[in-house]
Amino acid sequence: MADQIDILSERERTILARYAMHSADSRGRRHPESPHPYRGPYQRDRDRILHSAAFRRLSQKTQVFAGEMGDYHRTRLTHTLEVASIARTIARALRLNEDLVEALAFAHDLGHPPFGHAGEAVLDECLRDVGGFNHNAQGVRICELLESSYREYPGLNLTDEVLEGQRQRANKRHHYTYGSNSTERVSSPLLEVQVVDAADSIAYDAHDADDALELGLLSAEQLFEVPLWSEARERVLDRLPVLNKRQLLRAIVHEIIDWQVSDHIEQTQQTLSEGAVATTDDVRRAPIVICPSEEFVQKKANLEQFLFDKVYRHPQLLAKREHAKQAIREMFEILIAQPEKLPPKFQRIAVFENLPRAVGDYLAGMTDRFAFEEHRQLLGQ
Ligand code: MG
Repeated sequence: MADQIDILSERERTILARYAMHSADSRGRRHPESPHPYRGPYQRDRDRILHSAAFRRLSQKTQVFAGEMGDYHRTRLTHTLEVASIARTIARALRLNEDLVEALAFAHDLGHPPFGHAGEAVLDECLRDVGGFNHNAQGVRICELLESSYREYPGLNLTDEVLEGQRQRANKRHHYTYGSNSTERVSSPLLEVQVVDAADSIAYDAHDADDALELGLLSAEQLFEVPLWSEARERVLDRLPVLNKRQLLRAIVHEIIDWQVSDHIEQTQQTLSEGAVATTDDVRRAPIVICPSEEFVQKKANLEQFLFDKVYRHPQLLAKREHAKQAIREMFEILIAQPEKLPPKFQRIAVFENLPRAVGDYLAGMTDRFAFEEHRQLLGQ
């Protein structure tokens, strides 16, 4: 067994950069476990997350557009897989730890409640007196407490590096802002965490526009008013001048991802070549390293503002959001008044913590479909 661990360490020493997180330097797990004979610690974390109930439920949770709107657009699960794919590309180019990156990517949206940000906003209101609700903090609760896959301990008993990454995301507002060089930060996240944040942003910028087009919420003409889209169109047409409209739009989405990935890699390589960030200790002390270039910061900001105005606040989405919020709010009130209707696991949380938090955990774990079903049941309809 020791041989296998030595082989993994040796392989990482050969493949990974010094500023990458090496498995041999892991701070380990809260409940110590023997090393696995042939899987490294982050590979195990990735597998634990992949096999969790919370991960499977991502397939039935809204990313931006609800399930009944069609079958083209992303779900929370396919978004997660796109993030993992983009993050691995960047990680490999920068010689970072891909197993850790994949574990972090798979975990990054585990805490999302049903109905996307509408679900998050209404739970935050309902739980205001007990600290509110945030999907990143909920992701930590799932990994440390709510998943019950193992008899020996609550949660998934993940390595400290995966949990730390998730916690830093939960505290983002206080610690650091992706893409900013604020000096208020306490400790910067590992580069593997920074890669996942960058990949998340790259993925949703591209796919939210793509999904909105396919659903007819936006026209291509509207998108071409956004500089990132019109410039990506020029880049595609330089290379592939004969495309029909559909092929062109698909090619632009791919170009927007590829162009941003290349920009992040080049920008980061330039920062790292300056030599100030050589080890993971340097990473923790340095400003955020994995960033888009200045030019892209502005382009991304323009696109995100456009998506915010034209897509996230589209009347069709706002109507669905209100309906979903009402269902969550009503379930919350019924379960607070009749806690005996909570499954036993959440009744125990009510005893050890408090009832609103237990109800919040139960509601946040639901898929969109289950939430509407349970809502009907609880109302006795
Ligand atoms: Mg995400």
